[in-house]
Amino acid sequence: MEDISKKVILVKGLSKSYGELEVLKKIDMDVHEGEVICVIGPSGSGKSTFLRCLNYLEHPTGGQVEILGHTIQGTAQEKGKIARENEKIARLIRQDVGMVFQQFNLWPHKTVLENVIEGPVQVKKENRDKSVEEAEKLLDRVGMLAKKDSYPTQLSGGQQQRVAIARTLAMHPKVILFDEPTSALDPEFVNEVLNVIKGLAKDKMTMIVVTHEMGFAAEAADRVCFMDGGFIIEDGTPQEVFQHPKTDRARQFFSKILNV
Ligand code: ADP
Ligand code: MG
Repeated sequence: MEDISKKVILVKGLSKSYGELEVLKKIDMDVHEGEVICVIGPSGSGKSTFLRCLNYLEHPTGGQVEILGHTIQGTAQEKGKIARENEKIARLIRQDVGMVFQQFNLWPHKTVLENVIEGPVQVKKENRDKSVEEAEKLLDRVGMLAKKDSYPTQLSGGQQQRVAIARTLAMHPKVILFDEPTSALDPEFVNEVLNVIKGLAKDKMTMIVVTHEMGFAAEAADRVCFMDGGFIIEDGTPQEVFQHPKTDRARQFFSKILNV
């Protein structure tokens, strides 16, 4: 069957080394518009490095990343022509690619609402009143409108992460990368954040979510990628990867996680 949906991310032979340490080893991945990919794998397998290469928070040392039509070339040279070109392209990429981290990184001295309008007003130079109106809609969407005048320290981790997601949405991203968005949360707050991400999936936001939440991945992901030692060693539907993993490594990992 011909594949007519649009690819928004094409990763080809992506490599990343820190000195002698090879962290990503020729990773390939394609992501279609509206797809949700969950990336799972043991600590140290390269998941964060992979996400950070996609928006050039890390410099790939080989291969290439094409994202929303912009191409980053891997290069071993930290300086030079390719690196300078990559820097320029990265600025374009970051306008359309949001990132949500394990630590929410809200401005502590700004209210919830001020945190959400900061990007639109300061970076995009949008009209303040219009930004406030939109921020209120987004806060409503993540269930945080009632707390719009609170400060981050007055909120639970789950609430802070929902505000961080609203802040990301305020920049109108076409792709959102999540790096373990619930790993820093107390267990009782995990679902409220996962539910917000599931809502975005329903609205067909293109997302890559690094997570250890297998139930969420099974329910929300179109595809699950399992990373180990700098390789993607499983890539398939949740059904394929969870029920019929091809590798012993993935089977062991899932049995360990599911037994606790
Ligand atoms: P994961 O997110 O899957 O836990 P990471 O991508 O954070 O894995 O890290 C993969 C490997 O890269 C680890 O061995 C880690 O120690 C190493 N690493 C990550 N960042 C750096 C860095 N800035 N300098 C050197 N090594 C790093
Ligand atoms: Mg990580």
